Amino acid sequence: MAKRRFLLINPWIYDFAAHDFWAKPLGLLYIASWLRKNGAEVYLLDCLDIHHPQMPFEPHIKQASRRAYGTGKFFRQPIPKPVFFQDIPRYYYRYGLTYRIFKEELDKIPIPDAILVTSGMTYWYPGVFAVIYFCKQKWPHIPIILGGIYATLCHSHALNYSGADFVLKGPAENSLMSLLEQICNLKPEYIPKMEYDPYAPYPAFDLLRKLDYVCILTSRGCPFRCQYCASSALFPFFYQRPPETVYQEIVYWHKNYGVKEFAFYDDALLVNASQHAIPLFEMIIKAKLDIHLHTPNGLHARFITAKVAQKMFQAGVKTVRLGLETISPNRHDQKLTREEFIRAIRYLQEAGFTREQIGAYILVGLPNQTKQEIEQTVSFAQKLGVTPRLAEYSPIPFTKLWSEAIKICSHEIDKEPLFHNNSLLPCAHKNLSFSELKEIKRKIWHTSCI
Ligand code: SF4
Repeated sequence: MAKRRFLLINPWIYDFAAHDFWAKPLGLLYIASWLRKNGAEVYLLDCLDIHHPQMPFEPHIKQASRRAYGTGKFFRQPIPKPVFFQDIPRYYYRYGLTYRIFKEELDKIPIPDAILVTSGMTYWYPGVFAVIYFCKQKWPHIPIILGGIYATLCHSHALNYSGADFVLKGPAENSLMSLLEQICNLKPEYIPKMEYDPYAPYPAFDLLRKLDYVCILTSRGCPFRCQYCASSALFPFFYQRPPETVYQEIVYWHKNYGVKEFAFYDDALLVNASQHAIPLFEMIIKAKLDIHLHTPNGLHARFITAKVAQKMFQAGVKTVRLGLETISPNRHDQKLTREEFIRAIRYLQEAGFTREQIGAYILVGLPNQTKQEIEQTVSFAQKLGVTPRLAEYSPIPFTKLWSEAIKICSHEIDKEPLFHNNSLLPCAHKNLSFSELKEIKRKIWHTSCI
């Protein structure tokens, strides 16, 4: 039987702001590796490619740039704002390749048996729709399968409006291979599992044009259920890989591709640390690997012990992000106490981490959250000697806070995913204006420069 051929596409981001903080389509790269393991020919078109050689010469483009540890800015073009956003005093951008280059790239790819499109934040769907539109124009009869976060959390919206032939909900392990068997006659010998699988291939990072960093998943899912988070809707289970296999994956990318920067994509990296994260860090220390580790998804401060902090530091962790969220005692499901956070910071500082390396994620724009609550949380973090990192709250379907968000938000967030955009402060109501938030950010910036 002829080799099956698949085109996998990582769409554009349409937003007020987007940065490449170790942002790669990890799920799509895993799917690419499953398909290759099943003998298929796989093409990747990454709309967020920051190394495309022609992009710097495109007209009306703001240039991509690289900063520390492989992070940086995407290429971007200012575009007209959706009609609902006319009053928002910010530019709106399409991040990634120009349409012209996208179409040129599409022309280079031989006709595939199916096109798989991933999706990220719910309010980025215009980028997904644009990809589907261009693919349908070029190959009207090739099936397009849409999956990912938006497709899962706003499933009916995607079914009704995306133009995809199939919209998959939840983890791809569930249904993708059987769908491809049905529609493309793929005969998969390798079927991905919803649990740890020693035969699972590494995600196909080699399909990217250049590797500034690699994202690593040491576990899948999260045992916690924070009110604002949709992790369990995206993957309802939790499992951890044996640390030895994670170590081998890191060594593979480091030795074969010269990768030095690694970002953990785990939701709960430090759970069961004595059996999981600590042995992994110890293997890296013992091998004296010259690598940097980063934790952009945030760590649970409760699990940072003196030993964990020391091993993190010795293994080469350079960026520590902790979920502080808020210090208001009324808001939490008691995920974290102030004392636990203070203790974690002390351990991290004793291990050698600096103020610049330790960032505390603070949520802003939560339903009924006051400006004072945010300022108090910022001040609490600063007094401890860590850098506050403000994270605007986005209301997300299937979270515990969703029904409260629907009540409080003046936009129809249950009908239009664009209103989930955190830059709109959709649930801040009258408690926090854009100018007040800007002022809080200015003060943080000013303090961190002193
Ligand atoms: S915020 Fe983090 S710890 Fe909480 S449920 Fe989501 S992934 Fe888990």
